[in-house]
Amino acid sequence: MTGLQAPRGTRDILPEEQMYWQTLETQACQILERAAYRQICTPIFEQTALFERGIGEATDIVGKEMYTFSDRGQRSLTLRPEGTAGVVRAYIEHGLHQQGGVQRLWYTGPMFRYERPQSGRYRQFHQLGVEVLGSGDARADVEVIALAFDILKGLGLADLTLMLNSVGDRSDRSDYRQALIDYLTPYRQDLDKDSQERLDRNPLRILDSKDARTQEIAQAAPKLLDFLSPDSQEHFQRVKTYLDQLGIAYTINPCLVRGLDYYTHTAFEFQSRSLGAEATVCGGGRYDHLVTELGGPETPAIGWAMGLERLILLLQQQSSSPTTNLDFYLVSRGETAEQQGLILAQHLRHRGFRVEMDLSGSAFGKQLKRADRSGAPGCLIIGESEAAAATVQLKWLAQGQQTVVSQGELLTLDLRSHLDQAREFATEQSTSDAP
Ligand code: ATP
Ligand code: MG
Repeated sequence: MTGLQAPRGTRDILPEEQMYWQTLETQACQILERAAYRQICTPIFEQTALFERGIGEATDIVGKEMYTFSDRGQRSLTLRPEGTAGVVRAYIEHGLHQQGGVQRLWYTGPMFRYERPQSGRYRQFHQLGVEVLGSGDARADVEVIALAFDILKGLGLADLTLMLNSVGDRSDRSDYRQALIDYLTPYRQDLDKDSQERLDRNPLRILDSKDARTQEIAQAAPKLLDFLSPDSQEHFQRVKTYLDQLGIAYTINPCLVRGLDYYTHTAFEFQSRSLGAEATVCGGGRYDHLVTELGGPETPAIGWAMGLERLILLLQQQSSSPTTNLDFYLVSRGETAEQQGLILAQHLRHRGFRVEMDLSGSAFGKQLKRADRSGAPGCLIIGESEAAAATVQLKWLAQGQQTVVSQGELLTLDLRSHLDQAREFATEQSTSDAP
């Protein structure tokens, strides 16, 4: 097969990268579960109407980014471009609101958007997100922001800025919308092409434009914050006070408007300066009207989503390559030796050790070189004479110590503490080798 490649905008996640993904998911999961969040999985494709209603026809996502197709039964389906609409659909469909109280949910998985691919921007990408359904309390806003903050900080990401804004409620926004249109209309010809279109359909999104001239015009536009009702102002004030109390710093950014129609009140983003143009690693906000929009009961809600590829890029930039967690590399040569090796590897794995078995049958020298490169602290060697005596050479690669033990006895040794010692030795050596 020649010429077959992964589709444009998609990427393979090769084994070398998996450690980063696992670290990310394990740490996020721990932090979320400590705050009583429970995982939910929804389908990767949904009825197209869900996204049209839940995200809004005037948004970039619905307007030009969706992967929509009809199946063999002529149903219009769409690969999910984001996670919230599906989670809210499931929340309504399964009556999770009838369980009473607040639902705290998290999800992770691939999302699909037809975008112009570039570093940190793909057509298939992964998000991890949370949704809190059933509370309009400002503490919920701050809880989810604090969780995102802890996850990002736990990954060792420095250089992060939390951008914060309030987009008020629908009535605040309809007053503002008109003021914005009045301000922008004289500049229509100076706006970038997308923004000219948005002027009629979704003027708030113009504030979010990445075009330099449009940004300049937007800077002097009326501010949504000046249009907030007293209730909206009070909610925003509480959010800011609670963030201060938790010691989470933020920058108010009046141009921060999320692209989706259902957002209300709090809008926020975490950005990293190390990422260049695609700087936002996490975006979220309150969406008090989405549940009713999709046919459920009135339910205030808030959530965020993180772009995992962008986090992985940051993790890769800042840390050396992740180390292997292999315990033993098993080398054998000759029919009987190979059979014994197969059995020994199995026994060790059943006892919880990570064992890689060399399958090449090549000369010992070659197999031992691979053992060195594998990063395993221990090497197990079975040749013809060991096979005849049912023994194995146990070699600690960093120390260069080698002993012969019977294969049965090997399983009774305290291999764990030997492995710990070998790893400690290897670390000491690598730090003392450093210039
Ligand atoms: P942008 O303005 O960068 O297009 P967005 O507003 O479309 O972002 P959201 O829908 O809020 O982004 O998605 C949340 C996060 O998911 C983003 O902050 C980003 O980290 C990530 N993300 C969004 N689109 C992509 C993509 N095409 N490729 C990789 N990550 C993405
Ligand atoms: Mg986008």
